[in-house]
Amino acid sequence: MKITNVSASHLAGTRYAWVFLHVETDAGIRGLGQVSSGPNSALVAAAASRLAPLLIGEDPSRIEYIWHKLYAGFNSLGSHGFVSALISGVDIALWDIRGKALGLPIYALLGGQFHDRLQLYSNGWFTGCSTPQEFARAAAKTVADGHSALKLDPFRGGHAYLSRYAASYPPGDDDEAVAIVAQIREAIGDGVEIYIDAHGRFDVPTAVRLANRLAPYRIGWFEEPVPPENWDALRQFRDRSDVPVCVGERLYTRWQFRPVLEQKLAEYIMPDIIRTGGISEMKKIASMAEAFFVPITPHDATGPITLIAGAHAMLSTPNFFRLEVAYSELEVYQRIMDPPFDVANGFFNVSNRPGLGHELRADYLAQPIPF
Ligand SMILES: [Mg+2]
Repeated sequence: MKITNVSASHLAGTRYAWVFLHVETDAGIRGLGQVSSGPNSALVAAAASRLAPLLIGEDPSRIEYIWHKLYAGFNSLGSHGFVSALISGVDIALWDIRGKALGLPIYALLGGQFHDRLQLYSNGWFTGCSTPQEFARAAAKTVADGHSALKLDPFRGGHAYLSRYAASYPPGDDDEAVAIVAQIREAIGDGVEIYIDAHGRFDVPTAVRLANRLAPYRIGWFEEPVPPENWDALRQFRDRSDVPVCVGERLYTRWQFRPVLEQKLAEYIMPDIIRTGGISEMKKIASMAEAFFVPITPHDATGPITLIAGAHAMLSTPNFFRLEVAYSELEVYQRIMDPPFDVANGFFNVSNRPGLGHELRADYLAQPIPF
């Protein structure tokens, strides 16, 4: 079997547009992948569509070789971030082809089913909330829907961190964030996990102060307290705070996870499968973490193929902890995926159909659904 074409499709209108990758073969089997886009969707889509000359004519079953060919091919300017995201899309599509060619679900090619189903944690359940009371009501509703872990960023300014790196947070705003988390904890009781996401946007004293103010509400993890460039800063944070740490959505490939594990900088790691290098890389990172007895809990906030590719990788992974689901976007996933995902009571049930087991709906591909 040979690869005959590679193309990208691009859906605008979501929080970040989703860039899908389509790999075609001379056997008529098509593979589906997704490339992380963030705010650079058009740029990523353009780059993804230009992968064809590197891939056409290759045997799609040579997944490891193709991964290395792409990684080495872009290494002069660094193969992390933008490039590892492109590789992720190709890698997922190649695993989809491999599974379809063999008539097996991807997880069966990765060691088989270790878990019966995957426990989720919910993000994006708070859309539209601004007051502590609104957050508490939304949290209670999400728990009533069967979710046993909720993640949020309670800090004023949301994603505006991109306007300044390693920012201070005005101490006068602390009380609002604390009130949100306090009222959520009161509304949902002690049996539900709360994960706090700092989105890697604080300087050290800010991150330490906020973590210590929130610690009394039993924080399951404090995610990305500081930006990812400086492990000494994360060490300082750990020395001066008392919350579990989760990092990894901005780390790319096994090489960037190595110091986190060796220096014991996180209780949990959270690679993103459409950023860090795809299914192949996710499995390697998971095995590295397993040797350190560190659980893996993939970052999955960015589109339907992220979720299903991460699910296949994790179903066969002993140290899997929880899979993130963007609760507010799940309804969109269910509209565009054929068949829809099997999500119920806070768990993801992975299909045993060949490959990823799900396609983008043909009518959606023909005319993207506006939302
Ligand atoms: Mg995050």
